[in-house]
Amino acid sequence: MMTPGQTSILLVEDEPHIAEGILFNLEAEGYRSVHCLSAEEAITKLDTDSFDLLVLDIMLPGIDGLELCRRLRKSGSDLPILMLTARGDEVDRVAGLSAGADDYLTKPFSLKEFLLRVKALLRRSRPTRAEKTTYTFGDNLIDLAERRAITATAQIELTELEVKMLELFFSREGKVISRGELLQTVWGMSPDTETRTLDNFIVRLRKYFETDPTHPDHFKTVRGRGYRFIREKS
Ligand code: CA
Repeated sequence: MMTPGQTSILLVEDEPHIAEGILFNLEAEGYRSVHCLSAEEAITKLDTDSFDLLVLDIMLPGIDGLELCRRLRKSGSDLPILMLTARGDEVDRVAGLSAGADDYLTKPFSLKEFLLRVKALLRRSRPTRAEKTTYTFGDNLIDLAERRAITATAQIELTELEVKMLELFFSREGKVISRGELLQTVWGMSPDTETRTLDNFIVRLRKYFETDPTHPDHFKTVRGRGYRFIREKS
């Protein structure tokens, strides 16, 4: 289970003995760690869970680490990525960094060095995250702490429910959030409640923040699954 404020790390590594050592050390340091054996599995996890850091092996069965890294950056993710490369392979290191990784570590590495890299990456990314209460997307500036939004056409005082919903969307940018989770988090309703309340709410957010509310760029419907917030127009 996730405790509030606990740092979450996703490890994608197909070699069990390497994964085992890494996971053991991460847990010992108090991090919450989740392990995937393939990039395909990681894509699903990244869609449904939040992480502070991705530790990504390059050589994986199926989609490799470089490709996963490229895809994440292309989708606008700024998740810190520590790439694990094969021994002494210069090509891998360069490719990793140009694919958008933040740092790399060459196998075999000492777990002490691994933890130092992890801490450094988390430190670099943290300050902006913890203090951030203003968000921009499209023509909008939203200040959650002040409950205020400036859009292309208006200044809006946000309700408490709107703030809650925006907070959830922003914290899980690019990820699908189910109707059930939105109902539960924003309204405290049981996830299986049948109601149009949520749909009407989304319609209102689109009217506020979308250039064309009938063709939303940011608050997207994901048919049969829920909704997804996307910062950058595609
Ligand atoms: Ca591997």
